[in-house]
Amino acid sequence: TPVIEVSGVSKRYDNRQTVDALRDVSLTVEDGEFVCLVGPSGCGKTTLFRIVAGLEPPTSGDVFVTGSPVTGPGIDRGMVFQEYNLFPWRTVEGNVRFGLEQPACDCPDCTARVEELIDLVGLTGFEDAYPKELSGGMKQRVAVARALAVDPEILLLDEPFGSIDAQTRDHLQRELLDIWQETEKTILFVTHEIEEAVTLADRIVVLGSNPDDSITTVDIDVERP
Ligand code: ADP
Ligand code: ADP
Repeated sequence: TPVIEVSGVSKRYDNRQTVDALRDVSLTVEDGEFVCLVGPSGCGKTTLFRIVAGLEPPTSGDVFVTGSPVTGPGIDRGMVFQEYNLFPWRTVEGNVRFGLEQPACDCPDCTARVEELIDLVGLTGFEDAYPKELSGGMKQRVAVARALAVDPEILLLDEPFGSIDAQTRDHLQRELLDIWQETEKTILFVTHEIEEAVTLADRIVVLGSNPDDSITTVDIDVERP
């Protein structure tokens, strides 16, 4: 059974104007897959990300994650955003620890777990630094460690490297692939850059630019070198 199952999802924003951000979109992601969701600006990638993350409800359609209907965010899904969204008043250690402060977490030794995560993203030695002292790439490493803290089955990333220079992005892409292989997570990664998707994905899902398109998604299998 798929880890993520989006079935016939539509999303209409009804503010000053009516916008059909998604119309009848279906998508499944299997256990351990690395799927990139691509498409032009405004095609609804972030909307679909937020719906799978449980940050907003679809107007219609069904979303299941690890077998349960999505009713909000959950510890089965770690999230990483383009703009880092770190807690500025917390250190690296404090940001990573945040994930372990969820009531549902019963981590036997949180300190060891935090150290292990900081090591996983290559930031040992920076435990006491604050986000403002870190480069963009380092901030995003902290965000990945925080997202992985409760050992979620799924990692959801929305243009995580979109604000990072090209050279650093190459590093981070390689690091994310290493983490994916090491942790065997299921990854849904949103990007508008097809090149990035080809570098990272097992499978690319292209979201059509017009919600009225008869084909709303296209799946492409990627041969990794
Ligand atoms: P993408 O991530 O592919 O650029 P989005 O999901 O951000 O696309 O947006 C899809 C469409 O929905 C766009 O037309 C956008 O303007 C619209 N939209 C997104 N969020 C809102 C919102 N909160 N209210 C109204 N319209 C929105
Ligand atoms: P940016 O995102 O700003 O482009 P990086 O994340 O690659 O950059 O980091 C920029 C600089 O920060 C590096 O040249 C290095 O000096 C320092 N840095 C980044 N990560 C580490 C690390 N794990 N250990 C030591 N220094 C680091």
